[in-house]
Order: sequence, then C-alpha cells, then structure tokens
Amino acid sequence: DPALLNRVDDVTWRIEPSGPMHVPVVIFADEALIRDMDDKVAEQARNVAALPGIVGASYVMPDAHWGYGFPIGGVAAFDAEAGGVVSAGGVGFDISCGVRSMTTGIAAAELEHVKESLAESLARAIPAGVGSEGTITLDARQMDAMLAGGAAWAVEQGWGEPADLTRIEEDGRMAGARPDFVSNRAKERQRREMGTLGSGNHYLEIQAVEEIFDPTAAAAYGLVGGQVVVTIHCGSRGLGHQIGSEFLIEMAAAAQAAGIALPDRELACAPILSEVGQRYLGAMRAGINCALANREILGHFARRVLRHFFPRAEVRLLFDVSHNTCKVERHRTGRRERELFVHRKGATRALGPGHPEVPAPLRAAGQPVLIGGSMGTGSWVLAGMAQSEERALASACHGAGRAMSRHAALHRWSGRQIVDELAMRGILVRSPSLRGVAEEAPGAYKDVAAVVLAAEHAGLARRVARLRPMIVIKG
Ligand code: 5GP
Ligand code: MN
Ligand code: MN
Repeated sequence: DPALLNRVDDVTWRIEPSGPMHVPVVIFADEALIRDMDDKVAEQARNVAALPGIVGASYVMPDAHWGYGFPIGGVAAFDAEAGGVVSAGGVGFDISCGVRSMTTGIAAAELEHVKESLAESLARAIPAGVGSEGTITLDARQMDAMLAGGAAWAVEQGWGEPADLTRIEEDGRMAGARPDFVSNRAKERQRREMGTLGSGNHYLEIQAVEEIFDPTAAAAYGLVGGQVVVTIHCGSRGLGHQIGSEFLIEMAAAAQAAGIALPDRELACAPILSEVGQRYLGAMRAGINCALANREILGHFARRVLRHFFPRAEVRLLFDVSHNTCKVERHRTGRRERELFVHRKGATRALGPGHPEVPAPLRAAGQPVLIGGSMGTGSWVLAGMAQSEERALASACHGAGRAMSRHAALHRWSGRQIVDELAMRGILVRSPSLRGVAEEAPGAYKDVAAVVLAAEHAGLARRVARLRPMIVIKG
C-alpha cells in the first residue's frame, strides 16, 4: 500500500509501526526504484518488523525484491535478551552466498589477445551448473574439518594462499561453527561439491576496471584503471540449501511452541536462546565456512588458470564478503550499544572507514562492498560509509536486484540470443545452461547504476570503481 510510505528524503522511505509491527520499515531507494519495487517487498518488510525482539527497523536495500518470507535485500537485527529470534528464511537458502574480487595487475588490453582460449580454460577449470560436481571429494573427517575451518582449511589443504585469509570476513574462518549440528544429508550433498560454482545467478567473471570514482580508495584497494579483476559469486552449494530447508521445517514448529504468531508461515523462526535457535546458529556458521572454503578453492582454480596464461600475474584477493548471513555484532541503537543478531539476506555488510574489523591496508577507505550488476552491465566496487552504521546497521545493497522473475525472463529472451548479443559486445559467456542464461538476462535486473547511486546518497556505501565484464562463466 503506497499510502503507507512516508518520504523522509530523496532516498529514504518509512512505514511507521502499526498493528503487530514493533519497529518501522525503512526503505532506501530513489523514486524510480521505489515505483518499480514489487509491492511484496514492503509487505514482507512489515511482516519482519512484527517478529519478536527486532531492534531499530526492518531495513530494505535499494536492490530489494521479493524473497522467501524475508525480502532479498532485507536487514533485520534481533536482541536475544528481548526474546529475539533467528530465522532460516532471514538468512536465505544459500547460506553465506557472497562475492570475492581479486586484482591481477594484468592489462585488459593484453588479455584481449587470449580471451577465447582463456574463456575455454576457465570453463574447464570451474565446474558449473545445477548439482555440478568437482574434482574434490571429502570423507566424513575432512567434511567436519572444512565446516570448522572455512577458507583457512582450504589454504591448509593447498587450495589458496595464507595472505588471502586477512582479506576474508572473519579472517576466513567463522567461529562458533558446529559441524555436528549439520545433518548427514547436508554433508552427503556437499561431498563432491567443493570448488563448484552452482547454477544460475552464480558466476566467475573476468572484468576490467572501467571507471574510477574514488582514486584514494581505489589505490588502497589495488584497483587500477584498465586492469583485470576476477570476481566470483557463489555460496554454500547443496550443504547450505539442505541446512536451510531442514531448519525451516524445525523453525515452523519451534515458533509455534514458543507462542510466536507468524504473520507469514515463511517467516519461520526460533528464539535465539532456544535449543533450535542455537542449533541453527551452529549449523549456519558451518554453512558460512563451507561458502568461505568454496570461494577460496574457486579463487585458487582461477589463479592457476590465469598464471598459466600470464606467468607474472599477481592475483591478490581484494576482499571476500558474504551477503546471506546472521552475525552477532555490536551496534548502537538509540542511546545503547548492544549485541545483536543481524540478519542480512541479499545485503552486504558495509563497515565504514576506521572500523577495526576492516583489514588494516583498507581501513582508511572503509570495507569493500562488492556488487554484482549483470553479465551485460558490469559490476561495482563500493566502500562502506560511516553513516551506514546508524542508518542501516552497517549494511548496503548486494547487487542490482531482479526486476522480473526468472519465469518472465525465460519467456522474454532466449539464452542463445543473449550469448550472441553479448559476444558482439566483446563479452564471452560460457554456461552449461542456455536456459539459465535467459533467466539471468541483463534486462531481467534493475539498473545497477541507479541502485549504487541510491546507496551512496543514502550514506550506505560510496562508489569506488565500475567493472566491465569480459568473460562470464555462468552457473
Ligand atoms: P543474488 O545473490 O541475489 O543471487 O545475486 C546478487 C546479484 O548478482 C544480483 O542482484 C545481480 O545484480 C547480480 N548478478 C546476477 N548475475 C550476474 C552476472 O552474471 N554477472 C554479474 N556481474 N552480476 C550478476
Ligand atoms: Mn547464491
Ligand atoms: Mn548471492
């Protein structure tokens, strides 16, 4: 209901609490983005605002669209002491889905000469597609070690470099993971899926730094105009999906047992301090480690291929950041600083300049916020801003966000047509699924430039650089 939306400024909208809502809804978007945002987003954000123990507001990022229970692009924090909840749907099925970007020092002009063969090599080295399996098989003990160790485990196994770890959230290893809380079914699904990209929206891209907006931050990030960047977007594969599915069912019962009136059954949740809540947090953190390890391994594969073509390339991790998590963080809300369980679903953590958790070489610039656009329109690197802490619990958008459903996109475009059109523009797309390519057509996404501009105007994250796609390995 648009009548409920109060405009605060050019890029901020509020829905005041009413009925069961405990807190307001705050949406960050410009007028055009708000107009085109599907109505379900505001409805879902209002439902989230009605969950027990929510603190601050139910926040919505400018790339938001409808999701399962919680909107994608939603941020919600809960206070355990105030009866707060944790929700599997508030994290998302692809636990710790995220993005990593690596700088290379390679000139894009130089890469042009080998683009075709590089695309073929990457397509061979990076297993992609639904249920794709890789070359790595884990036995039960290795699985548990991976779930406890994350990217640090991958590096120990030789799939990655120690220096990478300082450029990953949590230094590459999420504490508090409980592999013993992850079902055998989930582990079974993951046995052969380490170092695989998965389907659809996930990708590995060779990109060129096309435009720099903040030279100081870009220098700190190692981003140089005209140079090549490798970006990987993927998550916790079958394991995360299985954990999410199982806990959704458990949480429906847990919510009922705790007497929580759910405005929508997709919002299944459990009190943080309950047995199910604690068990989910332990399993979800293991899922985070799975995603961190997976991206580290994929980064290693990409590095290997690039070094084959460019022996002198220095492939350095700029940053690795998740956008589907629930994390315990300290935030100031009102006059009080307290520990909160921050759900970011399709939203990126965006710590501002000076924050101690930002790696020292990047700290003055702020945390890198890595944003996918689409395979045709390019991607963005932003930097967290100080204002984001109070405006949205240090969060920003995670992509362009879908403007239409996969189904609608499939109706509108053919995968072959998209691949051919992009090839004409010098963008090589390699995917096991033309159907997947159609679903992910650039036109199916919002205008990413408008999304990042809204994020910047709202004080969530500021623009550092724009990246142009050259090679896209699509799931
Ligand atoms: P999600 O995590 O919600 O699945 O996707 C994150 C974002 O990635 C989307 O909102 C979209 O903007 C972006 N994205 C999807 N496919 C591609 C792609 O092939 N290349 C790039 N650069 N971005 C993509
Ligand atoms: Mn994902
Ligand atoms: Mn994602």
